[in-house]
Amino acid sequence: MDDLPVRDELRGQSPYGAPQLDVPVRLNTNENPYPLPEPLVERVAERVAEAARGLNRYPDRDAVELRTRLAEYLTRTGLPGDAAPLTAANVWAANGSNEVIQQLLQTFGGPGRTAIGFEPSYSMHGLIARGTGTGWLSGPRNDDFTIDVAAAREAIAEHRPDVVFITSPNNPTGTAVPADAVRALYEAAQAVRPTLVVVDEAYVEFSHRPSLLPLTEGRPLLVVSRTMSKAFGAAGLRLGYLAAHPAVVDAVQLVRLPYHLSAVTQATALAALEHTDTLLGYVENLKAERDRLVAELLALGYEVTASDANFVQFGRFPDTHAAWRRILDRGVLIRDNGVPGWLRVTAGTPSENDAFLDAVRDLKKEQSA
Ligand code: PMP
Repeated sequence: MDDLPVRDELRGQSPYGAPQLDVPVRLNTNENPYPLPEPLVERVAERVAEAARGLNRYPDRDAVELRTRLAEYLTRTGLPGDAAPLTAANVWAANGSNEVIQQLLQTFGGPGRTAIGFEPSYSMHGLIARGTGTGWLSGPRNDDFTIDVAAAREAIAEHRPDVVFITSPNNPTGTAVPADAVRALYEAAQAVRPTLVVVDEAYVEFSHRPSLLPLTEGRPLLVVSRTMSKAFGAAGLRLGYLAAHPAVVDAVQLVRLPYHLSAVTQATALAALEHTDTLLGYVENLKAERDRLVAELLALGYEVTASDANFVQFGRFPDTHAAWRRILDRGVLIRDNGVPGWLRVTAGTPSENDAFLDAVRDLKKEQSA
């Protein structure tokens, strides 16, 4: 690849590459361990069969029915009862929230512009920035992995980014961002010039805190991005979405490919949204398992970062990669996100989590032997 005339900013970069290994227990990509319930599988088949009858035609380019249902879901779960409901005009959907983020960067970033994230955070923000020709800036965090708001405000004032990413709960640390911090960073960004602030809430359904969605009211450049890959247990579906002021949704239309969301995707997502309550029931199990992982890891003497997500960051390891490998040798795949001293484990089913805990118990014994 080094010989190819690829764009300068892509030279020497590595692609996103969480290992997809065939091992008994896979707790490395923050997926939901529960397969879709059988009645939903049947509903997907029905909806897809219906869609198949019309596959000679392009799908609804504006995905209006899907956006309407997503707006209803967000209004019901993310806004206070007296708030004005969101409508399809506030919502946009794409193939995974990665594509939502790409469309936002194509629209509000791009050559000559920059985006900032507070790292360690979701590595794709920086990779998608590069892919869209947007400069990437890495902002600071505190030692406990919360955002250092004063330092973040300074970084925004100094570097004048065009797009600000705030991930809450954050991946890989699990830390949630308080509403006050988001308000402060939004203000700091607008003080420079009108600036898009993206709150990535991929994991919010697992949080102890309410969604930051109400902050979009009165903040026309605040975007909340979401996904059906985690709480909805539908990572294979590839459906992400955003909620924002209608003007932001209109702007994104300038870069979206025509008919980007297939009729099959739209039909499947609509079927899943009919079963929201069942799917969110699994979220409660996962939250309890997440809390059990935290408690047991602490009891084993590990350090644990406070988690509001369906995963837990724990440490510390003198040789992080060697520890990751030892756990893999016991048939449990977790994630080394490149944060020195720390590893991340996704909450799985109770028996998967037991297998993981057995593996780390052994590791602890080895290390203290
Ligand atoms: N945002 C965050 C913080 C994530 O961790 C992920 C997936 N790991 C995504 C966005 C992208 O998810 P998807 O494209 O599956 O919606």
